[in-house]
Amino acid sequence: MKIITTVAEMQQTARSLKHEGRTIALVPTMGFLHEGHASLLREGRRRGDCLVLSIFVNPIQFGRNEDLGRYPRDMERDCRIARECGVDIVFTPDAGGMYPNGFQTSVRVADLSLPLCGASRPGHFDGVATVVTKLFNIVQPDVALFGAKDYQQLAVIRRMTADLNLGVAIVGMPIVREADGLAMSSRNSYLSPAERRSALCLSAAVRRVRELYRAGERDAAALRRAALELIAAEPAAVIDYLELRDGATLEPKATADDATLLALAVKIGATRLIDNTVLGDTP
Ligand code: AMP
Repeated sequence: MKIITTVAEMQQTARSLKHEGRTIALVPTMGFLHEGHASLLREGRRRGDCLVLSIFVNPIQFGRNEDLGRYPRDMERDCRIARECGVDIVFTPDAGGMYPNGFQTSVRVADLSLPLCGASRPGHFDGVATVVTKLFNIVQPDVALFGAKDYQQLAVIRRMTADLNLGVAIVGMPIVREADGLAMSSRNSYLSPAERRSALCLSAAVRRVRELYRAGERDAAALRRAALELIAAEPAAVIDYLELRDGATLEPKATADDATLLALAVKIGATRLIDNTVLGDTP
C-alpha cells in the first residue's frame, strides 16, 4: 500500500494508471475510520482495479465554530484498516496542498445544498462539492463510493457529478450501525458513556417512524410528531432538525411514501449527530 501526500504525485500516479488501462475506485473520507468506511472500501475493492482511499479533513466544509481543530485523527490505525480492506493508495494531502494561497474557486449545488444540514451549516455543502470536485480531478476515479449516512451529501454529489458531466459513477452504500442501532460516525468518539446512551434516541426515532409507516401511517406531520416525542424524552438531546422530505428533491412532504426521507440532526451535549432513513428502503 502506497501513501501519497502531494497532489502532484497523486495526479502523476493516476495518469500512469489510466495509461495502463486500469480503473480507479475512490473512497473519500476524513479518516478515523470505522466499519462504515470499511464497507465502502470493501465495495470499492470489488469495483476498481486500483482502490484509492483519500483521507483529508477538509477545512472549507467546517463552520467557524465547528470541530475542525479537534476532529479525531489516527493515521496509523487508518492505515491498518486500509490495508485490511485492500487499499492500494492512501492519498492524504495537507490543507496547504489542496488550498494554496490565492485559492478562490467554489462549486455550489444550488437547491439541494440549502435545507437540512445546509440550513444549520451554511456553506458546508459548497465545501464538500468543491473538495470532491478537486479529488475527482486529482484521482481521476471511474467510480467513487459514498455512504447514505450522509444522505444529503450523497444527493449533492450525485447532482454535481451529473450536472458537470464529471464522468464518475457514484455508488451509494447503506448506513452501517453499531449493534444497538447507533449510526457509526467518527464523531461518536466525542461521546461520554452517558451521552453514548442518550445518542440512541436518533436511531430509536428512525425505527419508530419506520414502524409507524409500515403499520400504515402516511401523515408526515404525525410521523414527525412521533419522532419528536421520542427525542424530547431524552434530556441530553437538542434537536437541530427533524424532517420528512422527498428523497430525490429534498422538498418537504405532507404525505409520506416509499421515497420519503426522514432526516434528523440532534445535538447530544456538544456533539452534533445525524441519522436518516428512506421509508420504503429495507433497513
Ligand atoms: P467521513 O469520514 O465522515 O467524511 O465519511 C466518509 C464517507 O464514509 C462518507 O461517504 C460517509 O457517508 C461514509 N460513512 C460515514 N459513516 C458511515 C456509516 N455509518 N455507514 C456508511 N457510510 C458511512
